[in-house]
Amino acid sequence: MKSFVYNGQPARVVFGSGTIARLSEEIERLGLKRVLVLATPPRETDARRLAGSLGGTAAGVYAKATMHTPVSVTEDALQVVADLQADGLVAVGGGSTTGLAKAIALRTDLPQIVMPTTYAGSEMTPILGETKDGVKVTQSSPKVLPEVVIYDVDLTMTLPASLSGTSGMNAIAHAVEALYAREGNPLIDLMAAEAIGALVSALPVIAQSPHDRDARSKALYGAWLCGICLGSVGMALHHKLCHTLGGSFNLPHAETHTIVLPHALAYNAPAVPAVIETLRAVLKADDPAMALYDLAGRVGARRALSQIGMPPDGIDIATDRALANPYWNPRPLEREPIRALIARAYAGDPPRA
Ligand code: NAD
Repeated sequence: MKSFVYNGQPARVVFGSGTIARLSEEIERLGLKRVLVLATPPRETDARRLAGSLGGTAAGVYAKATMHTPVSVTEDALQVVADLQADGLVAVGGGSTTGLAKAIALRTDLPQIVMPTTYAGSEMTPILGETKDGVKVTQSSPKVLPEVVIYDVDLTMTLPASLSGTSGMNAIAHAVEALYAREGNPLIDLMAAEAIGALVSALPVIAQSPHDRDARSKALYGAWLCGICLGSVGMALHHKLCHTLGGSFNLPHAETHTIVLPHALAYNAPAVPAVIETLRAVLKADDPAMALYDLAGRVGARRALSQIGMPPDGIDIATDRALANPYWNPRPLEREPIRALIARAYAGDPPRA
């Protein structure tokens, strides 16, 4: 067996249905007396209801979490934390809400309890991406890793079918890149394969029947494992390209991942034959990149970057930016093939190696 290093991230995870009822117990376990409940604006009513159910231990609600964690929002929230003398954070939402909790924790060391409502996986990672003056900067720090994560499948039942599909594809991308990560190891390989299998079987069911609790549960389980993959090993072409595209053209996070994933995998496929074998078995398909492109179609996702706001001249801009800061990837980055990859993703064409 090859030598490896396994870098586990400490986390306490409570998983199930109705687990939101365990929140008070977890707050007490951490010795917190005045938690601030965080949410996005559309989820404010739910956040207030949750805060109400906590009685005296909820100091207040801050419902301005925003995609890509703008530093201006974090600074506003820090003022609220100080005014309310909050001693802990409860984030109920997707990656945007978790991002806000992490950004506050980075600056205050306040403990975080995260209750994910999407499949983004941020709750399992020590990674924080923040945006200032239109530039998104990512950093990794153990300070931002949540102390407790409560997965309650009930909180995901309202996630619209379309968002569920793209959020689930976003999670699959973490596991796919973990399979060929430079820091890869057998434990992460096991989790990645298990996670992809769970999501690939659950997502088409959710697309047809968003209230199917078993499928929701399977998807959330898969998302948890995908989050561990993302938090444990380094990512490569797919995540770097999505970061560049999202940042350059302000594209929606999960949809961008959904569109780019089949193309990034097709690009890397010739360099990672063993991973392709694993994916063939998990996806039950000869061409894993094509299977992921088909899956995106089956969950009703858009498959062209041109449909989600990328301008036509973006192909060359993105190619230049993608190659500007070299990073490790299983297949070296070559200008023409990278440009062709972006052009196909822009047009919504099927992936090609
Ligand atoms: P999101 O958190 O922005 O949520 C998308 C929309 O769905 C929001 O309007 C939200 O209010 C709504 N929503 C969320 N859950 C819902 C539910 N159960 N029912 C109804 N509506 C619901 O989207 P996301 O894709 O989860 O997160 C994207 C952000 O997370 C990006 O900023 C991305 O960079 C970040 N992210 C970070 C990491 C990391 O490790 N640091 C990992 C993944 C994503």
